[in-house]
Amino acid sequence: MKLYNQLTKKVETFKPEDPKNVKIYTCGPTVYSFAHIGNFFSYIYWDLLIRTIKLNGWTPNRVLNITDVGHLASDADDGEDKLEKGAKREGKSVYEIADFYTNAFLEDYEKLKLVEPDHLARATHFITEDMNLVDRLIEKGYTYETSDGIYFDTSKFKTYADFAKLDLENLKEGARVTKNPEKKNPSDFAVWKFVRPGEDHAMNWEYQGRPGYPGWHLECSTLVHIFLGEPIDIHTGGIDHIPVHHTNEIAQTEAAFDKKMSRFWLHSNHVMIDNQKISKSLGNIYTLEDLIEKGFSPLDFKLWTLQGHYQGTRNFTFEDLAAAKSRRLNWKNRIALTFQKDIISDFDQNHFLELISDNLGSPEACAYIDACNLNYDDWHYVNSAFGIFGESQIEEVVDLTAEEKSLIKKREEARQKKDFETSDRLRVELEKNSITIKDTKDGPVWQYMV
Ligand SMILES: [Zn+2]
Repeated sequence: MKLYNQLTKKVETFKPEDPKNVKIYTCGPTVYSFAHIGNFFSYIYWDLLIRTIKLNGWTPNRVLNITDVGHLASDADDGEDKLEKGAKREGKSVYEIADFYTNAFLEDYEKLKLVEPDHLARATHFITEDMNLVDRLIEKGYTYETSDGIYFDTSKFKTYADFAKLDLENLKEGARVTKNPEKKNPSDFAVWKFVRPGEDHAMNWEYQGRPGYPGWHLECSTLVHIFLGEPIDIHTGGIDHIPVHHTNEIAQTEAAFDKKMSRFWLHSNHVMIDNQKISKSLGNIYTLEDLIEKGFSPLDFKLWTLQGHYQGTRNFTFEDLAAAKSRRLNWKNRIALTFQKDIISDFDQNHFLELISDNLGSPEACAYIDACNLNYDDWHYVNSAFGIFGESQIEEVVDLTAEEKSLIKKREEARQKKDFETSDRLRVELEKNSITIKDTKDGPVWQYMV
């Protein structure tokens, strides 16, 4: 398999250290509001990654974290706490907010038929382990204390700038980091924050004799260490994570454990909506529920995503989503056809696997599907890579009701008896349910209307 690696900034051959335990970590959501389609964009590609790893005969072992601990609104260590903000907005406790949006995220996750992670880790369950990691960093001399927290001294981690190709000399305070006169270097970041007198921070834990909470990058380092162990095989996330979050994860993990954190780092690119950034002020934050309300299946969105490459920027429009919907319907009809007649396949499953194993070449794989004739077994294989019809059973693609099946049968019986009046009436009846019948030389074939 080949993958683009942010560590070396090139496409490299990927082979797991242990094929029976391919260690993968995915940075998960912060659960303070509904996830939008831009968030799921990334998880859809990591779903393809997991499925491709399985099709290569390897066994993934993946952790997905849920950030249910309050952290601050910006990548820098200041701003408003997202969970506290959600709690105020909805008049609930921070714990209620976290629970509610964790469940909402998991429901959407299931609607997209994303492979369940082997370990779903809620950050609040691992605070003691976070403290152990901070202890370790303190002992090794990588930290210093200020009035508002314990900070990681990035000047002590020599390769800090490499991952994101940061220009530390000219690093301007503002965009990436905020002005904090107590910090020794602009890029230093909090591994632990103290709750300051008067600060409203409901989620806090006692550490070093005072209330506080973990710095927001810390949980990923903690979870990688306790569930998988360094180095892991692949760490995934969004492109936004490169300059701060992943750079800081690497610094604190490698400083604490003297081992490489991950052998490969993969990042998905941005999604725009109608050529604009996803933002509240533009009113273009769509959830899966919004798509469902407009008559789309979450799996139409999954196929729309897979039609493009994970490293490319994408522009989402409802027009394109409608095109993906008809492509999926067309594929569904082709599957339905395999139940009705023998299809002579010219689809090479190994070639398909090569395409997706080449840095997750899903657009090429989609084009290959369109160019070939696939039999039932081939569609089953495609679905095990894409998961766009059902988890494993493509039989559920054919979701005719008993009544529809009986109409099709009655229509054929009428036709055989040359009772064309009845057969036409039944045809119209079926079309009301968006089912059309084509009479081919091999007999009638039904399809969903595109
Ligand atoms: Zn992370």
